[in-house]
Order: sequence, then C-alpha cells, then structure tokens
Amino acid sequence: MKTVWCLGSINIDLFYDVPHIPAPGETLAATGYREGLGGKGANQSVAAAKAGAPVCHFGAIGANSEWVIERLESYGVDTMHIALSNEPTGHAIINVASDGENAIVILPGANRTLDEKGLKAALSTAQSGDLLLLQNETNLQPEAARIASEIGMRVLYSAAPFDAEAIRAVLPYIDVLLLNQVEAEQLQESLEQSLFELSVSHIVVTLGADGARWISTQSGDSTETPGIKVEAVDTTGAGDTFAGYLAAGLARDFRPAEAMAFAGRAAALKVTKRGTADAIPTLSEVEAFKP
Ligand code: ATP
Repeated sequence: MKTVWCLGSINIDLFYDVPHIPAPGETLAATGYREGLGGKGANQSVAAAKAGAPVCHFGAIGANSEWVIERLESYGVDTMHIALSNEPTGHAIINVASDGENAIVILPGANRTLDEKGLKAALSTAQSGDLLLLQNETNLQPEAARIASEIGMRVLYSAAPFDAEAIRAVLPYIDVLLLNQVEAEQLQESLEQSLFELSVSHIVVTLGADGARWISTQSGDSTETPGIKVEAVDTTGAGDTFAGYLAAGLARDFRPAEAMAFAGRAAALKVTKRGTADAIPTLSEVEAFKP
C-alpha cells in the first residue's frame, strides 16, 4: 500500500459551554469545558490512519503539548516529522451556547511556522505513487505540492478554509482538488471559470447529506456518490473524514468510484457521533456499517 503524507495543521480544540455567546465587553462563566485534538491536517491524518493507510504527518506544535503527539500516535499516525516550534500549538477557542450556536477564535501559532528544509528532508523518503494531503491552515502548501509532483506523488488538496490566492498557487501541482459546495461556488466566482475549465485533472465536490461528486475535467465525466441517510448529530469533521478516507482508498489503489463510496460511508458514520478527530470511525466500524 502507498503511504499518505499529510502536511497540515494540528490544533487543540478547547470547547467552552456557555449560556449564550458573550456580547462585546461581557464576562461570562463557562458551565463546562472539554479539550480534544483538532485541526484539519490532524483530522485528515487520523482519518487516513484509521482507514488503515500508513500515514506520515508533517507539521509543528509548541511547548507543553506532548499529549497531542501521543494521541496522533495512538491512532497510528507517524509523528517523526512533527517539529517543535517556538510559537504556541495552534488552538481553537470554541464557545458553544446552550442553543447550539457557536463562536470560534483560532490561533494558527506553530502551524504557520513549518520549515522548508525539514519538508524537503521528510519528502526525500517519499516514493513515486505516494499521496500528499494538503489543506489551507499552514504555510508551505505550494512548495510541498511542487516537490511532491516532481517526485511523482499524487497531490490531494482541500481548499479549506477558502482562499482563492492559495488555491491559484497550488493548482498547477495537484491531482485532486477537494471542495465543499460553498467552496466550489466561491472558486467559480473568484476565478470566473466553471469547475470543468480549471487546470486540474480531478475535482471532488462534497455535497453534505447529498453525498459527493467526482469530476474528471479532461474527459468531462462526472460520477455521483449518493448520500447515506443517517441521524446526523454533529457534522464537524465530516469533510476531513471524507478527505482522509478518500486518500486511504486511493492509497489502496481503489478506483475513484470505489474510493468515493468508501469515504462517503466513513463520513456518514462520523456525523452520527459528536467530536472531531476522536470521533472519526475506524476501518472495522466502517466495514461493519450497513446503511
Ligand atoms: P465540515 O466542514 O462539516 O467538516 P464540509 O463542509 O467540508 O464538512 P460536507 O460536504 O458537508 O463537507 O460533508 C462531507 C461529506 O460528509 C459528504 O460528502 C457526505 O459524504 C458526508 N456527510 C456530511 N453531512 C452528512 C449528513 N447529514 N448525512 C450523511 N452524510 C453526510
């Protein structure tokens, strides 16, 4: 099986239960507190590892966050290339109000201090045919995509959080562009092109409860993976679960339709559980899932 390399963010998600979202100037006592592993990169690495692929994460954390490394390793992620930064570990302060509304502040911190020399050293051990997963919460995406494409790796890029300039910079080097429906619309508007006109071979648009679509721009073909009916309790991390499982499916040489169905089952199962990285289903749970 091919290795999935993931260059991506690692965040600590700090959840505060609050009676309501604090107003400007207001001080509020939280009624509950939880913390967990998060960040789009870490979530995607965990998903690919839970799907059974060999996964090597390239990223950075700050001081006093060793549990994050231990958690990633417990899910099977190789953390050898996670550096220690002088900046704090990236974190998200998530206020969750009793009516379900939330307000989030993210500190990118160490995630934006990735070092190019370290990246080159890490990817010098990658093989042609391996996969590289990228998102938009770190620095070095264009550099990583270029090096990976020169090695003959397949590059999958989640254009999230949406940033048209960042997408433009990596587009020449990627094989599969992953977008949700909102990002697909934003991209077409900002580039004034339809998805079929973009210079990337494959595009996957996830459609929430309606499933996902694989578009091959050169042939003009598109394949739909239908949505799976589940009782959704928390859709956080659904997109990352889909991306990680899709990469793991492609690492197992699944055909696109098969990899999409695999990813769709995993993502549907994720939305039935609360949480992010820790709530991503394992391969055996996905195999046992009979929708
Ligand atoms: P998020 O930001 O919430 O992680 P996203 O906006 O990146 O997600 P979506 O298109 O909402 O991505 O969801 C990704 C995939 O998760 C979908 O393609 C689908 O397979 C699955 N999914 C999401 N929501 C549901 C749902 N309500 N029921 C079943 N499957 C779902």
